[in-house]
Amino acid sequence: MVSWKLIQKANALLEKEKGTVRKPWGGRISICLLYPNSYHVGMSNLGFQAIYQRFNSEDDVVCERAFLPEPEDFQEYQRTSTPLFSLESQTPLSDFDLLAFSISFENDFLNVLSLLDLARIPLERHHRKERTPLVMAGGVAIFLNPEPLSEFFDFFILGEAEEVIGEFLELYRGSKRKKDDLLRRLAGIEGIYIPEFYHITYAEDGRIKEVIPEPGFPKKIKRRWIPKIDQFPIRSSLFTPDTEFKEMVLLEVNRGCPRGCRFCAAGFVYHPFRNRTLPILESLSMEGLLRAKRVGLAGAALSDYPHLLSLCEDIVSRGGGVSLASLRVDAITPPLIDCLRRGGVQVAAIAPEAGSGRLRRVLKKGYSDDEILAAVRTLVENGLSQIKTYFLIGLPSETDEEVRSILTLSRRMEHQIVSSRAGEKKRWKLVLSVNPFVPKPATPLQWAPFEDVGELKRKLRLLKNGIRGRKNVEMIHDLPKWAYIQALLSRGDRRLGKVLMAVHQHQGNWEEALRETSLNPDFFVYRKRDLDELFPWDFIDHGIPKEKLKEEYLMAMRETGVKIE
Ligand code: SF4
Repeated sequence: MVSWKLIQKANALLEKEKGTVRKPWGGRISICLLYPNSYHVGMSNLGFQAIYQRFNSEDDVVCERAFLPEPEDFQEYQRTSTPLFSLESQTPLSDFDLLAFSISFENDFLNVLSLLDLARIPLERHHRKERTPLVMAGGVAIFLNPEPLSEFFDFFILGEAEEVIGEFLELYRGSKRKKDDLLRRLAGIEGIYIPEFYHITYAEDGRIKEVIPEPGFPKKIKRRWIPKIDQFPIRSSLFTPDTEFKEMVLLEVNRGCPRGCRFCAAGFVYHPFRNRTLPILESLSMEGLLRAKRVGLAGAALSDYPHLLSLCEDIVSRGGGVSLASLRVDAITPPLIDCLRRGGVQVAAIAPEAGSGRLRRVLKKGYSDDEILAAVRTLVENGLSQIKTYFLIGLPSETDEEVRSILTLSRRMEHQIVSSRAGEKKRWKLVLSVNPFVPKPATPLQWAPFEDVGELKRKLRLLKNGIRGRKNVEMIHDLPKWAYIQALLSRGDRRLGKVLMAVHQHQGNWEEALRETSLNPDFFVYRKRDLDELFPWDFIDHGIPKEKLKEEYLMAMRETGVKIE
């Protein structure tokens, strides 16, 4: 049975979209691209849109989309026993050749199971039949560490999928063989990881002892990256009012970051840093402005783009608006801010990350307070008085004094804003976005433990009390319990598959599920790793040797004064 209500909802979404690709199926390879979160979130993700374009650029491929239904639609799917269907042709997912997940965030891992379940695809790969669609995943959360999801996927693409898709399709087209044969052949493509051919042994203390690939499979898998970034121009191709970026075309300016902050995955797993050329970006933004009023510039290191000002001026001179996520403190200059203001930017974001200079040095983000205040002054003097600032708490060796130094710095920023405004009437605002530090795989701080949840709550209370009564200052934060889950899934191994299954069976109730499993989640979250520990993601060659990360980690620890045995 199929719910007409759900069909009507899908049609209503499609009617509001521009750029939808519709192709007849006949004889084509059918791929359903899934985003394990809502339509709104998925459609706001440029990487997801890029893969949709990339698959559909092949004549013999039809790629459609599916998202996690909204809660009321989820119930309707269950009430009417409607199998999950794709948006474009409303075909049940089990009729596709391939289901491809794009996964950017660990906290969406659980939604993968919900989607497979709604699609009536057996959750664990070893329960699937020969005619079940192949289930694959890519995305940054996957190439950081796919292991917690390894029981649910036939294969993963590690690295920048645009680089692999062509080779994958070529092999797939030439293949009429059985699934097992196909998977074995896929393993010959650099960047494709097939978990069933890798076996893990564990030591008595629970750590990984060895990863044993079956004969003929590589011990290390290289994550792929695009050497010539201009060959894959990336800008949004689908437009709908139902995204965070309505009226905006998103444009990827660069990939990676040359700064190497020790907590930040963007600088390490997207290594090396690559800029697109200005003429390409100008022509993409020109095309984009035919469809939307604003251009949203995307990239972890926008401030490191050498032509950022020229690009912004070009967009503004064509009557377009500009938007960008955040700016590096030392890249904030009067001409750039003036241009952004003319381009309609109202809020500027900077990321000091820590209140104290010592912790900023630990993170390798060593701005002085004076540099941060100078950036605030330039922002305000050039017309931007709504400032968002990003901070982390729970950093290695952090003291209460240093948590309070976030308040001290915010007071100094507040004074700077007030004094630089010279009596201007428009309202100003300072937002402190304070989030728990989650150690990420493939970064120098991958050895560090996650801060105790109780301590994080206490530190957040301390900060909230500190801003009470400051009417133009606001604080927002992630909940420590969700950061704990993120920490668990970020650095977990494939044994977490059982935990995900249990949470799925308990309809998302982590506490109940964790009580039921024999695995102690604190083992993955709170444990300080030994320097020589074998990590679940060590089989991936992320492009930077582990020894180099270790050196950086030891340098960070020297800054903290913590002794490492
Ligand atoms: S935190 Fe920002 S500056 Fe540092 S490496 Fe990440 S993207 Fe680059």
